[in-house]
This record gives sequence, structure tokens and C-alpha cells, in this order.
Amino acid sequence: VVNRTPLIAGNWKMNLDHLQAIAFVQKLAWNLTEAKHDFSAVEVAVFPPFTDLRSVQTLVSADKLPLAFGAQDVSEHVSGAYTGEISAAFLAQLECRYVIIGHSERRTLHGETDEQVAAKVAAALAHDIAPIICVGETAEDLEKHGPSAVPVAQLRAALAGVSGAADLVVAYEPVWAIGSGQAATPEQAEQVAAALRAVLVELLGDDVAAKTRILYGGSVKSGNIAGFMREPNVDGALVGGASLDINEFASISRFKQ
Ligand code: PEP
Repeated sequence: VVNRTPLIAGNWKMNLDHLQAIAFVQKLAWNLTEAKHDFSAVEVAVFPPFTDLRSVQTLVSADKLPLAFGAQDVSEHVSGAYTGEISAAFLAQLECRYVIIGHSERRTLHGETDEQVAAKVAAALAHDIAPIICVGETAEDLEKHGPSAVPVAQLRAALAGVSGAADLVVAYEPVWAIGSGQAATPEQAEQVAAALRAVLVELLGDDVAAKTRILYGGSVKSGNIAGFMREPNVDGALVGGASLDINEFASISRFKQ
């Protein structure tokens, strides 16, 4: 039996400037520490905007806060004439442990393709940053193709350039559940997570598949997290809206208590 350490990841999106981020991260760490949260049993990570990362890094490393952090996106390019882009090397220098790649907002609002997602995954891995690869179907996809077809195809495409013992995370986020208040059921999440794990087995082998965490995302709250975490193939959550409320995010992280 493989024990995967659950990961609770807070995607702040375009919220909280660097001053707000400092206060937020201090309070979150304080809240969890006061509640005797076991950070080795459930990992907690925050995903601030790029402009906050240096402040968060300094705080986490200087004050030894037990939080992990990462970025919300990364460029697929190494360096050069790409105005506005941020490279994986820059993120690695700021000690980002993770980077979210292929979030549905990047795919729909910024036209990110499966090929770009794959290139970004490769860029992150080349700098020892674990990509959190987001996949998920729209309501229309669900109706037309059933629950797993689109997420499975997106994961296959994202892993096109990946081989062997890659350190990565997969996030299943049905687009219809993101920010809608209408979460998937734990059974729906498990069904797709199991299909995604089968893709990991096929493409990366049993060992990598067994240790790779698959998160559920889409309207996760303190009131529904426990149901997801009871499912064998769901190893954590990617949390949007609820990650901006310190008490709520801390309660989600403490789903075991
Ligand atoms: C997300 O955007 O990754 C997300 C899951 O958002 P929310 O929790 O607000 O549905």
C-alpha cells in the first residue's frame, strides 16, 4: 500500500497583492500551528500571483513557516523576447516547489493549447518544479463524451514529453464545478481520478502512478472536503475561492480533525 501525503493547494488567482500576501501567509501558518496541524501528514501550499512570490519565499524561509508555495503559471520558453512571460528558471530561483499548469482559466481565457501545456510541464520538470497539471471537462463535454474522455485526453497530451520518475501532481477540475458552487460528487471525482491514474500507470509506470497525487478541484469547501478525501484515488484538493478565507482554508486543510 502506497501512502500518498495529501496536498491541499490554494489557488489565489489574481487576488492579494504582496503586502496582503505577507499578512495572509503569516495568519494562515499561525492558525494551522495553533490548531496543531500536522504538516507532514497533510501538506498545505499556496499559489499567489507572481508579484507576491519573492515576499512569500522570504517569509517562509526566514520564519521557517511549514507552508509550501508555487506559481499559477510558467512560460514554456527558456528566455528571450517573450514580453510578460516568467520562466521556470526564475521560479526555481524563488524556491517554488510547484507550479499550476493548464488551469481551465488559462485554457479558456488565454487560449492555452494541449501542446503549450505539455511544453510548460517539460519546462517545470527541467527545473525540478513539480507541475500541477490541471485537466477537466466542460458541461458540454460531459454531455457529449461522458465524464473521463476529455480529462484523460488532456492528461495524455500534457505528458507527451514526460518519461520515467517525474515528480508531478494531477488536478481533476471539472470546468462546470469551478467557481460555480456546484461541486462534483465524491463518486464522480473518484471515477475520473481512477481513469487518470490508469493513464499514469500506462505512460509512467506503476511506481510513479502509485506515488503521484491526484487532486480534485471545483467548489471545494470545509463542508465537502471530507467526502472527497475518503475516495481512494483522490489525494487532496485544488481550492480557488475558499482559499482566500484563512479560517475556511485552514479548516479544509484540517479535514481529518
Ligand atoms: C480553481 O479555480 O482551481 C477552483 C477549484 O476554484 P473554486 O474552488 O473557486 O471552484
